[in-house]
Amino acid sequence: MAKQSHLHCSFCGRSRDEVKILIAGQEGHICESCVEHALEIIEQEIHTSDKSKSNTNLNTKLTIRKPQEIKKFLDEYVIGQDEAKKILAVAVYNHYKRISHKQLPDEVEIEKSNIIMVGETGTGKTLLAKSIARMLNVPFAIVDATVFTEAGYVGEDVESMLTRLLQNCNYDVAAAEKGIVYVDELDKIARKGDNPSITRDVSGEGVQQGLLKMLEGTEVLVPPQGGRKHPEQKMIKIDTKNILFICGGAFDGVDKVIARRINTNAIGFNVNKEEQELQRNNLLRFVNAQDLKKFGLIPELLGRLPVVTYLNPLDAATLRNILTEPKNSIIKQFTKLFELEGIKLKIDDEVLDFMVSKALEYKLGARGLRSICESIFTDAMFEMPGTNKTELHITANYAENMFNKSKLNLLKVA
Ligand code: ADP
Repeated sequence: MAKQSHLHCSFCGRSRDEVKILIAGQEGHICESCVEHALEIIEQEIHTSDKSKSNTNLNTKLTIRKPQEIKKFLDEYVIGQDEAKKILAVAVYNHYKRISHKQLPDEVEIEKSNIIMVGETGTGKTLLAKSIARMLNVPFAIVDATVFTEAGYVGEDVESMLTRLLQNCNYDVAAAEKGIVYVDELDKIARKGDNPSITRDVSGEGVQQGLLKMLEGTEVLVPPQGGRKHPEQKMIKIDTKNILFICGGAFDGVDKVIARRINTNAIGFNVNKEEQELQRNNLLRFVNAQDLKKFGLIPELLGRLPVVTYLNPLDAATLRNILTEPKNSIIKQFTKLFELEGIKLKIDDEVLDFMVSKALEYKLGARGLRSICESIFTDAMFEMPGTNKTELHITANYAENMFNKSKLNLLKVA
């Protein structure tokens, strides 16, 4: 036992009782965080050297995981949202199976399964898409549908979303052609009302038409630097046939459309506010393409986005888990930051509850948890480095004082 306590990581120097795992080598030991760091370095190095080769092996390295494995991977980063994870896992699995399968001339053609995720902002839509790209090791780009306008108008051409994808893989066309594009705020390009408009709808239907072209899988000429196409610019040709498009949006108000469809009186008169909220939340799980069409997406576009799923709003229990559970959770990140400074961070359980209650009270959602943490830890992060303090104990009182002092406190919604 006495011998055990002398063991330490030969890389970071931490002793046996400061780490979870210590792996023995011939002359020394290595702890779990150093293994993780080393892996990151290796991945980065391999990634960079791959990028510098003209054709990366991003696509040849494409390992297809089974849907259950995909879901398990997503569980490490995203809390809850089981339904969305399951549907995404199956869609992504089928998509990559389809890509890796060499199709014979008269074989059944498997069509692409682009996805729409409907859910309030900050519920994890982008995080899900990002995590999938991370797992598959394919180029990934996040684009915002609101920046696009119909060709010929001020704004960006829809094609420029592929520019981002190309930039993210160092202009490796072959890799980009198997990448994933996450189109955020799809609801913002809905046309206003269910009727096709007579007047031009520059930022709505026109953009949907542009997007449709890409989802269909055609060869698109992409401006390498993005923005607007202009005649002198040399274009890069990209085939979008195997690019997976995942779209997300809050679709505010779609619950009423769903309610009308399934003939439920969601906004009941004789139920209290919480009950109404619960009904509203439950409605999203019934969302389908028909509702999104009513919301203002054109049927052709919906036809190219066959998988529709939803995300649940985040309740207190989920927010609490988001703070501590994901692999790179906010609390783990702050603990690490302090640890790098030689400071052991101890946080009382009530502090976590306090953070969650403030995120809910101020309607900040999961995104707000980080700002709340910042407001609580900033003073200590400013003052402690350079002192010889080795521990920081955050109590509920301390957290409350810090939070009240911060400008977040001014955000309170009446
Ligand atoms: P959306 O795209 O739905 O607006 P994001 O995926 O960008 O929301 O979420 C914002 C942030 O909130 C994420 O970076 C993540 O830190 C956190 N978050 C949101 N939902 C979850 C979740 N279900 N699990 C873990 N973290 C989450």
